[in-house]
Amino acid sequence: MIEVEGLTKRFGTFTAVDHVSFTVGKGSIFGFLGPNGSGKTTVIRMLCGILQPTEGTARIGGHDIVRDLEPIKEIIGYMSQKFSLYDELTVNENLIFAGKLYGLSGRALNQRREEMIATTHLEPYIDRRAAQLSGGWRQRLAMACSLMHRPSVLFLDEPTAGIDPVARRELWDLLFEFAGKGMTLFVTTHYMDEAERCDHVGYIYLSKLIVCGEPDELKKLPDVNPPGTRRLDVTCDHVTTALHAMHEMPGVRTATVFGQSMHLLVDETVTPTQIEEQLRKVGVAHVEIHEMGPSLEDVFVQLSAKHAAERKAA
Ligand code: ADP
Ligand code: MG
Repeated sequence: MIEVEGLTKRFGTFTAVDHVSFTVGKGSIFGFLGPNGSGKTTVIRMLCGILQPTEGTARIGGHDIVRDLEPIKEIIGYMSQKFSLYDELTVNENLIFAGKLYGLSGRALNQRREEMIATTHLEPYIDRRAAQLSGGWRQRLAMACSLMHRPSVLFLDEPTAGIDPVARRELWDLLFEFAGKGMTLFVTTHYMDEAERCDHVGYIYLSKLIVCGEPDELKKLPDVNPPGTRRLDVTCDHVTTALHAMHEMPGVRTATVFGQSMHLLVDETVTPTQIEEQLRKVGVAHVEIHEMGPSLEDVFVQLSAKHAAERKAA
């Protein structure tokens, strides 16, 4: 449904998006991740026809994003990173306004408005001004507005940034519902739990797409699992002290805190007993160690470190 080949955007001498290529299948959810300023929004704006690419091509539903912009406008919806709602208008009025922008009127507009209210459960809020909605409900309204014209591809730029965990979960439930009905979703996010739920993920770093694939495949990449190493999950008291001790310990390649535990990448020669001893020396007790596979976050951290090192060397 989305085919991107060598897509590039330069602003003057600065390359914001550098030869990015990927495809997204119909009815799937593609998660697009990367640090701030890495080019995510610029990719979306090119795919939505708001920005002209400097180089490369992209097709949506077979239509070229430069030559066939009109059919593309009909099949895509775009929920931008900045709120695109009218604060002074009510929920109802925002929906009507969005529908009219897409040429809906009369009974068709009314029917679609009702469908979107039902889908997103906005009913209790229809007469409330957009400005008075909580973050989660604003995002639902923005999503409903971007769906008024029944697009088959929806671009969402950080739809869950700044909303609470329950609203986040509920928004994702909606996305799965849409994907289940055949809609193709392209979502940018900073949340790893959201990325884990996507069919495919891409990670863009310093303007370049450095990895792209199914989450489970990416976790098996050789670069993520260096030969002669293993990953351990360590739960213990005083995680901060423990982390410091692990950074000092020979054979420990990386140590990162994950909530109440630490994730370690260690040489195979490092045993759980050695780790326990090292921790006991600094007064850390209640140590539990399990072997584990890499998380998606491990994948991105590992690959961007490698990419940064290669850039430095070049
Ligand atoms: P992300 O969405 O990943 O945070 P963006 O796509 O917004 O990143 O931005 C990528 C880079 O391109 C940033 O360094 C940003 O400052 C730059 N950029 C974006 N839009 C423009 C523009 N219109 N003119 C110049 N630079 C821009
Ligand atoms: Mg952005």
